Amino acid sequence: MKNPPSLEELISALRCLPGVGAKSAQRMAFHLLQRDRPGAARLAAALARVLEAVRHCERCNSFSEAPVCPLCASSQRDASLLCVVETPADLLMLEQAQCYNGLYFVLMGRLSPLDGIGPKDIHLDRMLQRASDGIVKEVVLATNFTNEGEATAHFIGEMLTNRGIKATRIARGLPVGGEIEHVDSGTLARAIIERRAI
Ligand SMILES: [Zn+2]
Repeated sequence: MKNPPSLEELISALRCLPGVGAKSAQRMAFHLLQRDRPGAARLAAALARVLEAVRHCERCNSFSEAPVCPLCASSQRDASLLCVVETPADLLMLEQAQCYNGLYFVLMGRLSPLDGIGPKDIHLDRMLQRASDGIVKEVVLATNFTNEGEATAHFIGEMLTNRGIKATRIARGLPVGGEIEHVDSGTLARAIIERRAI
């Protein structure tokens, strides 16, 4: 006895989520169909809508519904500072820490040669373009303190200093192996304030 084809397709589609295997995908699909059909309809509509509406900001590369996101468009931000982070979640954490008033560039990943992720995949050409607009005076490297995050910061730091652009690295208030997304605001604020030249 097999599931109907459309249900099998949903189960297989749910497996695109991180950490979701065959068993939990089936459990989710059964839950939606048996116990929460309105929730399922809402999920379907939200997915369709977000795919239609959300793109990458032309300037910072984060998620945005407008070509340029509200943060990049704001005149209240210090355009001489550009902070490089791995993910939109890291950007939000830094904003919550209220310690930084410059602009951002979101890599949407980190260098990871073992997974085949190279400089092109994390948009370093666009980052470099942003950093060399003549207004940016300092690039703050706020990638994670994991091996890959450190290697990414090192790579970008060299790239920038070779072109005469000042690069700084956030301070090690963060634990080794630490991910920005899971650090408290106070520690993160200190790491930004105590950033050092590289
Ligand atoms: Zn933006």
